[in-house]
Amino acid sequence: MNNKPVRVRFAPSPTGPLHMGGVRTALYNYLFAKKNNGTFLIRIEDTDQTRFVPGAQEYIMDALAWCGISPTEGPGLGGEFGPYVQSERKHLYQPYAEQLVQEDKAYYAFDTAEELELMREKAKQMGMPNWQYNHVTRTTLRNSLTLSKDQVEELLAEGTPYVIRMKMPRNKDIRFEDIIRGWVVVNTNNLDDKVLFKSDGMPTYHLANIVDDYLMKISHVIRGEEWLPSAPLHIMLYEAFGWEAPQFAHLPLLLRPDGNGKLSKRDGDRLGFPVFPTNWTTAEGELYSGYREKGYFNGAFINMLAFLGWNPGTTQEIFSLEELSEAFTLDRVSKAGAKFDPDKTKWFQQNYLRNTSNDELASLLNEQHANKFDINQLSVVCGLMKERATFLEDILVEGAYLLERPLNYDSETIAKKWKVETPEILTAWKDRLSEIENFTTETIESEFKNFLAERNLGIGNVLPNFRLLLTGKGMGPSMFEIANFLGKEECLERMNQGLTTIKGN
Ligand code: GLU
Repeated sequence: MNNKPVRVRFAPSPTGPLHMGGVRTALYNYLFAKKNNGTFLIRIEDTDQTRFVPGAQEYIMDALAWCGISPTEGPGLGGEFGPYVQSERKHLYQPYAEQLVQEDKAYYAFDTAEELELMREKAKQMGMPNWQYNHVTRTTLRNSLTLSKDQVEELLAEGTPYVIRMKMPRNKDIRFEDIIRGWVVVNTNNLDDKVLFKSDGMPTYHLANIVDDYLMKISHVIRGEEWLPSAPLHIMLYEAFGWEAPQFAHLPLLLRPDGNGKLSKRDGDRLGFPVFPTNWTTAEGELYSGYREKGYFNGAFINMLAFLGWNPGTTQEIFSLEELSEAFTLDRVSKAGAKFDPDKTKWFQQNYLRNTSNDELASLLNEQHANKFDINQLSVVCGLMKERATFLEDILVEGAYLLERPLNYDSETIAKKWKVETPEILTAWKDRLSEIENFTTETIESEFKNFLAERNLGIGNVLPNFRLLLTGKGMGPSMFEIANFLGKEECLERMNQGLTTIKGN
């Protein structure tokens, strides 16, 4: 490890919404920075104007804010290394590309798109489908390595469009130690001469990325595995500029639930779960669903994501963002692809719901319903129902009978439990309830026990039918708590209603 202060970045390109995998990259960067008293920043890499999607940058910033992944520097936040949007730093990059040309580490290439297409076609016909602009082919193409100095100057003076390409050295082993993958060695003979600066006056991703990581004093580059093939070029660029390279950590891929291939943008809604943090609507009006709108808590979403490729080495699974920042280390990130598990995601959500206080659940829920409920009542409903719910809204669906009288009665329970003698027993029990003066969960329960004992009845003869009368259901939380919540009057009325409605077998 180098001893530079830890500065890490999340560098998305605004080419669409942020996929779950992108959020995980941002999260790991954030956690790594927190853990090491470092700085986490956001840089928008928008140099490819052909792929720019309006609204994507705003989406990314909003989604990260929802997740609680807050940068200290970035667009709209300022910081001493700004601007943090590459198109606003446009003027910075060309001198660096020119510098490499002057030092014979890069060159001007004047070949037109048509000329290159022709080369590709010819190569294909000769049985070489993967034609590349590289250390071999560059010797026969129109560039500043094959043309004379005068010719080059003339072309430049005439304003002929050109790109600047990296002059990859021949047969050189590039090696670097990735924090997650260990040593990576690639021979330059297998690499092409990548474009660094484009004819539209913009740098490519590679150049801008390296220049900015250098200027922004990035100490660690933590990014997705899909960037591993670019890393050797990046190392070469650091070397070409004479800069110390940051440490690299390439994160494992996120795989589909069946382990078959990378989890893609389209998979989510097709397989029945979101792959985006928040809803995204395309310009064509197509909606991709998000975790936020599906009702997930941000903490549950983040907790789940943290475990996709990392584990704390203990059995603890529920972590707040704060706890994650304390526990996170890159050496516990695995090399192997991480299978996404939608059921586990629900499990995290259930845990978060259960661990949230009744009052807080009630106030969140009430907010979503124009505050139409009595908050104290709703808080009790949350307490009674949260064990049976995954999402906030489930509390109202599952617990609807707590707020309104049942309209119908579960036919299965009637078939199994409602016997000839039931109306008489339940009427007697109703009368006992009406006599309880101090109507509480405890008094109802003890009265119930007495009632069973006196009449020599089993719990199964009475309780399911009592539940049926009060709730219309065959299952649910404690009947004594439910009765207490409803209050004596309501209990008696509901029992009357049920006793006249249920006909039994
Ligand atoms: N702009 C790249 C992306 O969209 C960043 C890759 C990197 O972190 O170097 O993912």
